[in-house]
Amino acid sequence: MMHDGLKKVLMGIGEAARKAGRNPEDVTLIAVSKTFDAPEVVPVIEAGQRIFGENRVQEAKGKWPALRAMWPDIELHLIGPLQSNKAAEAVTLFDAIHTIDRPKIAEAIAREVQKQGKTLKLFVQVNTGREPQKAGIDPDEADAFLTTCRETHGLTIEGLMCIPPAEEDPTPHFTLLTQIATRNGLKALSMGMSGDYASAIACGATHVRVGSAIFGVRG
Ligand SMILES: *Cc1c(COP(=O)(O)O)cnc(C)c1O
Repeated sequence: MMHDGLKKVLMGIGEAARKAGRNPEDVTLIAVSKTFDAPEVVPVIEAGQRIFGENRVQEAKGKWPALRAMWPDIELHLIGPLQSNKAAEAVTLFDAIHTIDRPKIAEAIAREVQKQGKTLKLFVQVNTGREPQKAGIDPDEADAFLTTCRETHGLTIEGLMCIPPAEEDPTPHFTLLTQIATRNGLKALSMGMSGDYASAIACGATHVRVGSAIFGVRG
């Protein structure tokens, strides 16, 4: 079965990767299904997509267990802010968390990962635009925080995530994230959304988080 939005985004990813001299298979599409329910999500699953992103633990908990019972190979990524009192539920529900941004969260996740005996892909979110209202560790504190994650909490961090300021050229932010990842020996870069995933891929994104370009405008 075909899905127009999904098809368009997969073609866009392929084109951006080839233009950057990269293999399209090195870019993972996370289909961001927040606010959309099963009737909108199922056609995208049926078209072959298996990796989805949600920004709220509560919403994911209501939506995904039933869908995963039908498609057990689905992989679910948490891309929204996490409170430490939701860490247990988040570790149970998700296969990846993109939003580790402070010691309290790192500690809570480490505790749950150990307790539940589960391996998750973990990303540290960096506030590349230093926006006060936005989550993420300050770029100047990222190196030290990554060391804390590793040495104090025993977490294996796969990569970094950022959400550039809405009104700015995203490229300098993607570049900054890439630099922090490189000097810390991290390979995964979660960056790029519907409006800027092509630039993110040009800058080295390994994971793009695309919602509205697949599902349509959120209500
Ligand atoms: C909603 C969301 C996206 C997807 O945004 P679109 O513009 O709809 O592609 C990506 N990342 C995060 C963190 C989000 O909350």
